[in-house]
Amino acid sequence: MIPGPVEVPPAVLHEMGRPPQSHVAPAFIERFGRVIEGVRALFRAPDGQPFVVAGSGTLAMEMAVVNLIEPGDPVLVVVTGYFGDRFASVLERFGARVAILSAEPGEVPPAAMVDEALDGADYRALFLTHVDTSTGVRLDIEPLAAAARARGVLTVVDGVCATAGERFEQTAWGVDLALTASQKAIGAPPGLALLVAGPQALATWRERRSPVAGYYADWGRWLPIMTAYEARRPSYFATPPVNLIAALDAALQGLLGEGMEPLWARHARTARAFRAAWRALGLALVPARPAIAANTMSALYYPEGQDSALLAAVRDEGVALAGGLHPALRQRSFRVGHMGPIGAGEILTTVGAIERALHRAGASSAPGAGLTAAQQVLAANQNEESNDEL
Ligand code: PMP
Repeated sequence: MIPGPVEVPPAVLHEMGRPPQSHVAPAFIERFGRVIEGVRALFRAPDGQPFVVAGSGTLAMEMAVVNLIEPGDPVLVVVTGYFGDRFASVLERFGARVAILSAEPGEVPPAAMVDEALDGADYRALFLTHVDTSTGVRLDIEPLAAAARARGVLTVVDGVCATAGERFEQTAWGVDLALTASQKAIGAPPGLALLVAGPQALATWRERRSPVAGYYADWGRWLPIMTAYEARRPSYFATPPVNLIAALDAALQGLLGEGMEPLWARHARTARAFRAAWRALGLALVPARPAIAANTMSALYYPEGQDSALLAAVRDEGVALAGGLHPALRQRSFRVGHMGPIGAGEILTTVGAIERALHRAGASSAPGAGLTAAQQVLAANQNEESNDEL
């Protein structure tokens, strides 16, 4: 139960164990074509151009930067944790003039501050992290993207810890470029970088004055490949990871079969159940308010007097959690991933393991308090659902 890689469904796992197909075999072409269409549906970007490339989320971040930004371009990065800082580092590496608007760990900069910052220079792009995995903080993307568009500034969203778990409407919200990776809420193994470029992002790339500072990362290499596979034609620039593409196809069929609204609602319900358990167990969230707490994961402070030994105790109870990541929180916090194909079984197993570990460390909450709180949320929801059916 770490915030990625997550456990993958059997149908996805099965694809990883099959003999690799030719990248120009008709059956593979069909799968890759379906993946490109599926990624467009997942990002809710009917006018977007997906890129599906071997690499991790960081490659997706680098591809966003090298294709959209030219040396000397002013950019604004909203930092809500470790991965916002990473975006700033990538941008600096490629010569952007980077302005950073950051919040204390657990907080988000108020929208008015972002507006004000956007007015401060003639920015080319605004970089946002939908959910920062180091703090569990979720940014409200829609108003920020609207503020950027109103000023002719591109919006780039890192959705690595959000896509498929948090509501996201790329085209409707005016997000020009969104990116993610395969190993989190999508529920596939790590190894694929996914990007969807909207019309403005592609136009900006086409109008570049300088060449893209990357060979493998250049959209110029990949655009003909993506277009060909979507048209069900073979094509080659660099060998696609055929098993991972097949695994992503299986994962996407599952997600799109469930439906985006039910998928987001399931993650929201899971997060509510976990948050009820945290309250009952006296565990404080790093995000300052539930409204800015992610549905895909929880970053939590250790209880008074406890440290990473708690995670070892939870592991002894059968559940793997993640330690702190944000430099300012590393010793004081831990993280629970709750994205991907999980249900009541995983929620209750996790809460139960944490509760037993806390009791072994001398916690005074009543045994079962966390489980009861989580169950109340899950049961209430079940009743709502059965009412819906009536
Ligand atoms: N952005 C966010 C929000 C992430 O959580 C991560 C990975 N944890 C990354 C970027 C980088 O992705 P990767 O580790 O796949 O390179």
